[in-house]
Amino acid sequence: MDKIMIKNLEVFCNHGVYKEENVLGQKFVVDAELRLSTRKAGRSDKLSDSVSYGDVSRLITAEMKKQNDRLLERVAERLAEAVLLQFPLVRSVCITVKKPWAPVMLHLDYAAVSIERGWHMVYVGAGSNMGDRQAYLTQAQEALCADGWIRNFRAASVIETEPYGYLEQDKFLNTVFGFETLYEPEELLAKVQELEQNAHRERKIHWGPRTLDLDILLFDDLVLEREDLIIPHPELTRRMFVLEPLCELNPYGVHPLYRKRFREYRENLGRESIPE
Ligand code: ATP
Ligand code: CA
Ligand code: CA
Repeated sequence: MDKIMIKNLEVFCNHGVYKEENVLGQKFVVDAELRLSTRKAGRSDKLSDSVSYGDVSRLITAEMKKQNDRLLERVAERLAEAVLLQFPLVRSVCITVKKPWAPVMLHLDYAAVSIERGWHMVYVGAGSNMGDRQAYLTQAQEALCADGWIRNFRAASVIETEPYGYLEQDKFLNTVFGFETLYEPEELLAKVQELEQNAHRERKIHWGPRTLDLDILLFDDLVLEREDLIIPHPELTRRMFVLEPLCELNPYGVHPLYRKRFREYRENLGRESIPE
C-alpha cells in the first residue's frame, strides 16, 4: 500500500507521569505514516482524491494539545484514532510519538512509542431462535451501526434454518453482518458478548436455544487461536446457515487458512445434503 509520511512534527505540550511535566510542558516529536492508495490522486492531481498532510499535521497538533495524558501510549492511541476517523481514505496509520527531553536523568536521543492501527474487515454471524427473533437481529444490527468504531456496515438477507447440533429446539433466523472496525479482535469479542448480554442471552445448553448469538467469523486474514477466541470461526466451513449469507456479502471470499473460496464450501455442502 502507498504511504504519505509526516516526519518530525514538533509539538510543545504537557504529557507525562510527573507533575512537573504537566506544568512546564516539553517538546514532543511525532512521525505519522498513513497507508492508503494514492493512485487516484496520482492520476488526477486533485487533493480531494488524497489526504492533505497539512490537515493531518494540524489535526495531530490539535489532538496533542487537547488534553494532558500520562503515557506516550495513550497519546499515540488518540492520534491514531483521530487520523483514522477524520480521514476515511486512510486504511491504517503508524504513529510514533517521541519525547526528546524525557526526564530520566540519563542521556538519550529520545524515548518513543510507535503503534500501528487501522480499519479491519470483519464478518460476524448472527442467529436467534427465541422470542422475537427478527427484533433481536435488528437490535444487534442497530447497535453495531451506531458504534463510532464501525463503518460500511452491511447485512445479508435473513434466512430461516433448522437447528444445528442440539435438535430439540425452534428454528433459527440467521444472517451475517459485514463491516469495517477499529476494534482489535478481543475488543470485538467483548463488544458482541455485550450485545448478547443486552439481549438477555443465557448460556444453558451448548448449541441450545438463544435469543442472540454473535460469532466472529473472519477478521481480515487473521488466523488466531486463543482459549477464548478462535478466528476464523472453526465451524464456518461446515455450516450452510453461515456460508449462505457470507457468500451473499462476499461472493468471492477466500478462507485465510485453507485458501479455498467460501462458495466452494457452500457448493460441496449443498451436494452432501441432497438425499441419495
Ligand atoms: P459455536 O461457536 O460452535 O457456534 P456457540 O456459538 O453456541 O457455539 P457460545 O456459547 O456462544 O458458543 O460461545 C462459547 C465461547 O466461544 C465464547 O465464550 C467465546 O469466548 C468463544 N469463542 C471462540 N471463538 C469465537 C469466535 N470466533 N466468535 C465468538 N466466540 C468465540
Ligand atoms: Ca454460534
Ligand atoms: Ca457464539
